[in-house]
Amino acid sequence: MPPTDPAPSVLCFENVEKRYGADGETIAVGGVDCAIAKGSFVALVGASGSGKSTLLKMVNTLVEPSGGRVMFVDEDVTTLRPAKLRRRVGYVFQGIGLFPHFTVSENIAIGPRLAGEKLSRERIAELLTLVELEPEMASRMPDELSGGQRQRVGVARALAGDPELLLMDEPFGALDPITRDALGNKVRELHERLGLTTVMVTHDMAEALLLADRVLVMDRGEIVADETPAALLAGNGGDVAQGLVAVPREQAEKLAAMEGRLA
Ligand code: ADP
Repeated sequence: MPPTDPAPSVLCFENVEKRYGADGETIAVGGVDCAIAKGSFVALVGASGSGKSTLLKMVNTLVEPSGGRVMFVDEDVTTLRPAKLRRRVGYVFQGIGLFPHFTVSENIAIGPRLAGEKLSRERIAELLTLVELEPEMASRMPDELSGGQRQRVGVARALAGDPELLLMDEPFGALDPITRDALGNKVRELHERLGLTTVMVTHDMAEALLLADRVLVMDRGEIVADETPAALLAGNGGDVAQGLVAVPREQAEKLAAMEGRLA
């Protein structure tokens, strides 16, 4: 049988760097090379300050690289019109990130509106249904929703332009564990159903292991491990990665031991 072609890259970081400070003395991202295949669900994991958000923000041009380039399909993102790029790349912001003075419907429609397109009421209802919210919520204000409902609206907004790529920056960080788990599973299901390519930033290794196909570990602006969840659980990826895997593993072991004692 002939070998099957590998999936094409939707996103490619080519020696991407971001430095801050008058002399560029703070290296937020230092020379990242990485290709993200179409259809993959990638988690970008690392301690606070390791450069995860900066790397993600360079994809939709919220941050400009100091060196190298970010390719979206086969174009340098800095050459694409921002409104057009942001329609093709859905972004779920850290925390909640809805505009407080806009209704749910206006929040969802903002990306297409900036690109000169009006979303129909039917499309908004369809997007709300996709994230398991009642279409009647379209006219509510963000402060009339729970944190979980707001972040569902954030996901609906990111999906409004039928994106090829979905970027999520700590999307569930502000949520309670049960809501967080439910929304994580929902996003994974939507990823499959809509044929998305997804990159999710998280500091939570358990979330990364449970949701992603591939885990990139960042440390001090560099990718220090690039493994499948199974390979990380088998002990691969080096010290930083294993340090992060140890946390949920030890918690699971302690819980299992407690269950054993209680049985
Ligand atoms: P993470 O998302 O992993 O928490 P960030 O990408 O936010 O990390 O930050 C990486 C590094 O870059 C940190 O040391 C941070 O202080 C620095 N940094 C990020 N944004 C700026 C900025 N606008 N000005 C100066 N330093 C920044």
